[in-house]
Amino acid sequence: MRYAATLSDGLTAGSSSGTVGFAETGLEVTSGSGESSLWPYATLAAATPLSRASRDVLLTSSVQDGATLFVGDPAFVTQLIGRAPGLSAGRERWKAARWWAAAGAAVAGAIGVLWWLDIGPARGLANAMPDGVRDRLGQQVIASMTRSYRVCNAPAGVAALDTLGQRLSAAAGSTAKFKIIVVNWKLLNAFAAPGEQIVLTRELVENARGPDEVAGVLAHEMGHGLERHPETALVRVVGVSAALEFMMGGSGSTIANIGLLLAQLNYTRAAELEADGHSLRILKNAGISTGGIGDFFKRVAKIEGSSTVGKTIGGYDILRTHPQSAERAKRALDQPPYPATPALTDADWQALRTICGAAPAQKAEP
Ligand SMILES: [Zn+2]
Repeated sequence: MRYAATLSDGLTAGSSSGTVGFAETGLEVTSGSGESSLWPYATLAAATPLSRASRDVLLTSSVQDGATLFVGDPAFVTQLIGRAPGLSAGRERWKAARWWAAAGAAVAGAIGVLWWLDIGPARGLANAMPDGVRDRLGQQVIASMTRSYRVCNAPAGVAALDTLGQRLSAAAGSTAKFKIIVVNWKLLNAFAAPGEQIVLTRELVENARGPDEVAGVLAHEMGHGLERHPETALVRVVGVSAALEFMMGGSGSTIANIGLLLAQLNYTRAAELEADGHSLRILKNAGISTGGIGDFFKRVAKIEGSSTVGKTIGGYDILRTHPQSAERAKRALDQPPYPATPALTDADWQALRTICGAAPAQKAEP
């Protein structure tokens, strides 16, 4: 008997479908491309303690650092508890949390109402989250992420990023100012974390053709933040009960390791279009041309035609999306013109490009 599973290797962004089965000494995990590996039962850890009522499970194994395995099948969970009873050891602590869950009934009631409004329990809970909780959640995601990747902090680059962040935050019309960091990660990626935080990778900053492109990416991620897409995605991953426990001040252990997972989540096409809509509005309010993000999508549309690049850019939030890049480029480039100035001065742009250290020379147009 094999179960459908969602796999992330923790090295490349994005996830893939595979299967998992029970072998004598461990889980036999098979990727979509047919490669198998054994995750011994003793090496497994679950994101939340399992019980017979658990409907899904997010697993990691110490034999494959950073990799995650998600199975959304209660029958799998039941069998797993039989093979690896240690995964349910947290149940005692869980019982203690029940009192808090009862105290959270009011919150749950509010969620019920939102559920009726047909926006789903995850989005409902994300929208009901107080700012303090979202900040705490975001800090955990960032902490989890920066355990693996150093934060780039060349002072001139940090100052330039701050200048751009302030300009865009003011234009976003959000009361909170977005906190933005660049991490030393050789993977093209950008993503929003809960509590108005945004992570850019070194690869992204160094591959941008100019500050307007980075501004466009940031404005898009701000759009996700304003719509609380990261909060919603996290609630979906950990489950409503674990998220409620976290909101009630419970230990963060259940979500301590999911920062990297957040970087791999796919949003829906509707969510991407929402974020794109925000990005065009934010750029206009900030007086930054949408030409940068338009050119960027155009370049991506060209790249999409060639099969080799999919793997390296597949994890890029702004790219791994369903809306076609050509269509998105057109939307950005078709905006009626308005007065605009460069997102950063030349000096600030050079500082941002070298925030992680010396940057490679700008590549020629493909
Ligand atoms: Zn996006």
